[in-house]
Amino acid sequence: MGIKTARKLLMVFMVLAVAGALIGLVFIEPGTKLSLYVTFSSFGCMVVSMILLFGYCKCPWCGKRITANLMKAEYCPYCKKDFDTGLKHRGKK
Ligand SMILES: [Zn+2]
Repeated sequence: MGIKTARKLLMVFMVLAVAGALIGLVFIEPGTKLSLYVTFSSFGCMVVSMILLFGYCKCPWCGKRITANLMKAEYCPYCKKDFDTGLKHRGKK
């Protein structure tokens, strides 16, 4: 899985985790089966997004983890290579 796929999935799972936690807190009575279910689902989403973040959000060329500007970055901030093409970006740091 490439970094572009990984960060898209990461976004989805993070949104799901936050939405699940909010819905669980606001709309669902604590202690019910439904609230347990929602809590575990959002916790599961959180775990998956952590796995994605730490396991897959890294540069395909130098292997360094991308955290800063992860969602928008088109190239690696360390080796400056484009995630798709591997071509070096020059100019602005
Ligand atoms: Zn790199």
